[in-house]
Order: sequence, then C-alpha cells, then structure tokens
Amino acid sequence: MRADDFVARLGGDEFAIVLTHPPASRAASRVVRKLLKALAEPFKLEHRRYAIGASIGISVYPDDGLDANTLLRQADLAMYQAKQRRSGFEYFSDELNTVAQQQLSLENGLRQALDHGELALAYQPKLDLASGRIVGLEVLARWLPRSGGMIEPSRFIPVAEETGLILPLGRWVARAACEQWIIWRNAGLNPPPVAINLSPRQFSDEHLIDDIDAILADTGMAAEYLQLEVTETAAMDNPQRTFDMLDALRQRGFHVYIDDFGTGHSNLAQLKLMPIDALKIDKSFIDDVLVDSDGAEIVHAIIRLSHALNMRVVAEGVETVEQVAFLKKQGCDEIQGYVVAKPLPPDRVAALFDQQFDF
Ligand code: C2E
Ligand code: MG
Ligand code: MG
Repeated sequence: MRADDFVARLGGDEFAIVLTHPPASRAASRVVRKLLKALAEPFKLEHRRYAIGASIGISVYPDDGLDANTLLRQADLAMYQAKQRRSGFEYFSDELNTVAQQQLSLENGLRQALDHGELALAYQPKLDLASGRIVGLEVLARWLPRSGGMIEPSRFIPVAEETGLILPLGRWVARAACEQWIIWRNAGLNPPPVAINLSPRQFSDEHLIDDIDAILADTGMAAEYLQLEVTETAAMDNPQRTFDMLDALRQRGFHVYIDDFGTGHSNLAQLKLMPIDALKIDKSFIDDVLVDSDGAEIVHAIIRLSHALNMRVVAEGVETVEQVAFLKKQGCDEIQGYVVAKPLPPDRVAALFDQQFDF
C-alpha cells in the first residue's frame, strides 16, 4: 500500500483498507488485484512454505454510503460474495443488500419456527433391491410456516448452516426422528432404521456425540437404528478428524453413509480407511445413466468402487423404472427416489413398512 493509505485489522482474519486518494472509483480493482497478487506470493515461516489467499469486498464513497459504518457493512457484504464466488474480490451492489435482508428475515423466521414448532419431518424410504423391502428411512426437515405454504430445505438449511442455527435444528430433527421411531415400534409396527443428515457444521461440532448420546438415552432409541448421512465434502474436509469421528460413531453402533458421493473430492487412499457403511451416489449422476454412456460408466464405476471397499451403495434421486433396471443390473444395493416414494409424512410412510416392492 502507499504511505497515505490506511490499513487496519478489524479482528480475526479481517482487515480493512481505506484508500483516501482513490483512483477513479471503479479502478479500485487495480489496487485490489495488486494486493491479491502480493498475498499469493508464497512465503517462508520457520522451515515451511505457505501461500495465503484473500477475499476482498469493495464499497465506494459516496455511492455506497456516506459514513464509515455503512461503507464497512457494504464492503463486508461484498466480501462474503467474493468468498462464495471464489472470485477474489467483488464490488458492493444494491442487489447484495436485498439478498442480505432476505437472509436476515429468513434467519429470524427460522429462529421463531424452532421455538413455535413450525418444523416437521418427512421420511423417504430406501429400498433394498435384492429383497424389495424398505431398509431405511431418510429423515428430511420441512418448514411449515404458520402463514401457510412450505419453505424448502434448499432455502433454509444453508441459512441455518451459515448462522449456526443448524445445531439446535439438527438436535430437534434427531430427537423428533428418534421419538417417532419409538412411537412406531410401540404401535407394534416394524420401523426400519432412520437416517438423519449431518451438515458440515454439525459434523465438526465437538458436542455432536454427547448430544446424540443424550437423545438416545432420553428417547430409548438404539444406536443401531440410527443412520447418519454426512456429505462427501464435509467428510473429506479434514480426513483425520473425520476418521476419528466416524470411528467413535461406529463404535457406538451407528451406521454411517456418505451423502452426495461424487460431488466432492475424495482421496481414495483415505476413503479406503474410513469406517463407512455405504456410499450414496449423487442424484446428478443417476440423472445421466440413461442419457449417455459416460453417465452410465461413472455410476458403474462408483458401484464397483463401493463394493471393492466393502461398502454398500445407494442410488439417490431414482425417478424411473428404466433407471431401476439399469441399477439392478449393475449390482446397486439400494435405491431411493420418487420411483419408490417421495418424502412422506409419518403416517403415510408407515403404510409402506411391510410392503414388498417389485421392480
Ligand atoms: P439430501 O440429503 O441429498 O436429500 C435428498 C434430497 O433429494 C431431498 O430433498 C429429497 O426430497 C430429494 N429427492 C429424493 N428423491 C428424489 C427424486 O427422485 N427426484 C428429485 N428431484 N428429488 C429427490 P430435500 O428434502 O429438499 O432436501 C434437500 C437437502 O437438504 C438434503 O439433501 C439435505 O442435504 C438437506 N437437509 C434436509 N433436511 C435436513 C436436516 O434435517 N438436517 C440437515 N443437516 N440437512 C437437511
Ligand atoms: Mg441425505
Ligand atoms: Mg444426497
């Protein structure tokens, strides 16, 4: 930076720079590019080489704000955008403000939803292709606002994840799923295991195991009837930690599934060592199996890989009988998708427990 530029550390890994003699406003990006280039230069610390990156948000006086607080807030929003897009830097725009406001109202709404019991669970069967029986139920959160309608998990789960609300929400889901399982069993039904999803934040939460233990103790649910789904991205983020966590969960009797497999970056050497029961092939690959030969080959390869690693393999998002026929021929173990059933409320899914499916 130049001598008359102002550089400050706001806290943690956040810094602010004020260009008091800025180049013609939009040309601030020239300064920012120079900065990113300088940061990208590897450096030596003790005996190791490091390289760091940065995400930069830019706000411009007076267009984006007239006081320091406003300008900082707008730069912050732009910075998050840069982080999400992995673009290096972004300018603030009014559109960002609207998005931020929507996020905020979604966040407040979700907080209330948790307190006011506006959340419900839907259950989607996993079908064992060999026996034609339902061998598991994936538990999916639903938000039913008092005002009517339904808000999709694809909208509220990311907000919950970002704000940390996913932790109380996840505990609620796990507890409600266990309670429901016990209700089914006490009614003389034969419920298959239920599978809950763990987001990256839940999966890296140090209280996860204690929380689940407490829920099992309170509800009387047995670990062997609770399956956990962790996305490939979350699992491979820190393989050593994942290994320890999965090992601890496995020892307690839980079954672990890797969700959305194929969308992350698995290190196969590490995957081989992980205590995992099954891989769930992401829907995007299933969509392609009958579209082109590459699609079919990829799914074929994932099925072979799972079996070579002594894991079961589940196809998710299966919608047609043609896809089922293909998966069956390739030796896929389980399928889940609209072709079997959509995610259903508890009473409707219970009617399927003893049904024999024939594909
Ligand atoms: P996921 O775990 O991969 O769940 C599968 C999603 O695919 C579900 O969407 C399900 O309704 C949808 N799906 C299943 N079969 C088909 C099909 O044949 N066709 C199509 N088009 N879609 C199908 P949903 O319920 O909207 O959930 C989306 C995602 O939200 C889930 O993806 C999961 O990552 C997350 N999620 C949902 N509930 C929870 C929860 O309680 N906790 C956490 N942490 N995440 C959750
Ligand atoms: Mg899942
Ligand atoms: Mg999935």
